[in-house]
Amino acid sequence: MSASPQAVRLILLGPPGAGKGTQSKLLEGRFGVRQISTGDILRKHVSDGTALGKEAKAYMEVGAFVPDAIMIAMMEQQLVGLDAFVLDGFPRTVTQAEALDATLARLHKPLSAVLLFDTDHAALVRRLTGRWSNPRTGRTYHEEFNPPKVAGICDEDGGPLEQRPDDKVDVVEKRLQVYDEQTAPLVDYYAKTGFLKHIDALAPIEDVTAQIFRAIGARDGATA
Ligand code: ADP
Ligand code: ADP
Repeated sequence: MSASPQAVRLILLGPPGAGKGTQSKLLEGRFGVRQISTGDILRKHVSDGTALGKEAKAYMEVGAFVPDAIMIAMMEQQLVGLDAFVLDGFPRTVTQAEALDATLARLHKPLSAVLLFDTDHAALVRRLTGRWSNPRTGRTYHEEFNPPKVAGICDEDGGPLEQRPDDKVDVVEKRLQVYDEQTAPLVDYYAKTGFLKHIDALAPIEDVTAQIFRAIGARDGATA
């Protein structure tokens, strides 16, 4: 398959709780561009009880990162044959970013942009501790900021919502610390490439979506 230079190829960069999953699901709905959420893929492995899931679970429940080698192999598999994509949760380390650069260069699929979700610590803790997730689809809600029509039930598939075990306050603090140590250096990494664009992720959900459309040059999500 030949790669189209116009295809939307985004990285959503930002700490846990910044709204990356919410926005990538909206982008998927609006342009049909595929969301690749490494967290959702890993949680599926954990719930299916695969060997990878058993290994990843131990890291995820304490808020640590799954080793780079596992994540890089997983992402390479996902990207083959895909022209347009939104990466949600990858890369999270400089090693992962370097591997992604090499893969995209080999596949002749240059990035469109890296969108950095700017937030603050207090908002992130509030968002994560009030988050409810659909484990079947990865769709998330917030008990205060984005509630489902019926508490505890997904609007889309009518099934139960759950609070992720790693959204408990002590694990949340650990994940935010790991972000600062291991993922924040990617801001400089991508700033040097000229792909980085800032998004005010403290704004309401629909404003964030509008900022993303502006950043990627799409008027209403129908074109990019
Ligand atoms: P959030 O949406 O809250 O940012 P994710 O669902 O993306 O969290 O990730 C959940 C967990 O999965 C992470 O805390 C980490 O253990 C693991 N994980 C996901 N993506 C990666 C990655 N690229 N590198 C290492 N670990 C990852
Ligand atoms: P991430 O994927 O970056 O970890 P999510 O998209 O899962 O973040 O969002 C984290 C929580 O914050 C969810 O409960 C979601 O409903 C809520 N949320 C997302 N975007 C916003 C926003 N702009 N304003 C308020 N709450 C938001």
